[in-house]
Amino acid sequence: MSSTDAQLCEVFNSIQGEGLYVGERQTFIRFAGCNLSCQYCDSPAALNITKEYGVEKIPGTRQFAKYPNPAGINQLIELVNLFEAPKLISHSISLTGGEPLLQVDFLKNFIPALKEKVSLPIYLETNGVLPDHLSEIIDLIDIIAFGLKLPSATGLSPYWKKHRKALEIAYMKEVFVKVVFSRETKAKEIDEAVSLIIEVDNNIPLVLQPVTPSGSIKHRPNPDQIMAFYTLAKRKIKTVRVIPQVHKLMGVL
Ligand code: SF4
Repeated sequence: MSSTDAQLCEVFNSIQGEGLYVGERQTFIRFAGCNLSCQYCDSPAALNITKEYGVEKIPGTRQFAKYPNPAGINQLIELVNLFEAPKLISHSISLTGGEPLLQVDFLKNFIPALKEKVSLPIYLETNGVLPDHLSEIIDLIDIIAFGLKLPSATGLSPYWKKHRKALEIAYMKEVFVKVVFSRETKAKEIDEAVSLIIEVDNNIPLVLQPVTPSGSIKHRPNPDQIMAFYTLAKRKIKTVRVIPQVHKLMGVL
């Protein structure tokens, strides 16, 4: 892990399509590499480190130029600055992936330097299973979109203990939890996720995200599941929303 260079997938400007900040414009820095392999992953291009990464030629146009990996701190700051100058049109800068926390040594140096040039909130999207990495940069983050992973949706083992530890750290800042669920998800699993959240604080908002069919996922959750899971969660958590992936409906990145 380099403290001065980042392995990236793409840098672009678009509309946030998930979670509590859905509809807000953001500049996205998508880091390459992930420690998980969720079966519903919609960013497969970000799972591996590649020789090049894409940079939108003009923010929001979906036309990309290729740059060589890795990206240096100053180079990336300049790119973000170009996207946002002179008007700061975006709500925030999204650090996404892949899993950005895998490059925590870079983030420790990059975020303070970025904040000197671009005065926008830093929004971290994380899979919530790297509590030690998160604790190293929590002071630098403003908003955390915390992905809590259900085995029924990811096809992976549960991560309850790591999630619990990471959520306690994330709670030091603004945080909401996003839970992707599938047709295979049962109420018991949602209940376990809800219990984990309320052990930290029932004021932490929960976004239930019905999985978008793609790849091996052939079906959406059914409406009865959606209604039942909302009711179950709302009995214990103050703010619960059901929000599917909206950027896919809009045709934006
Ligand atoms: S944690 Fe995110 S980027 Fe990684 S595999 Fe899962 S969905 Fe994809």
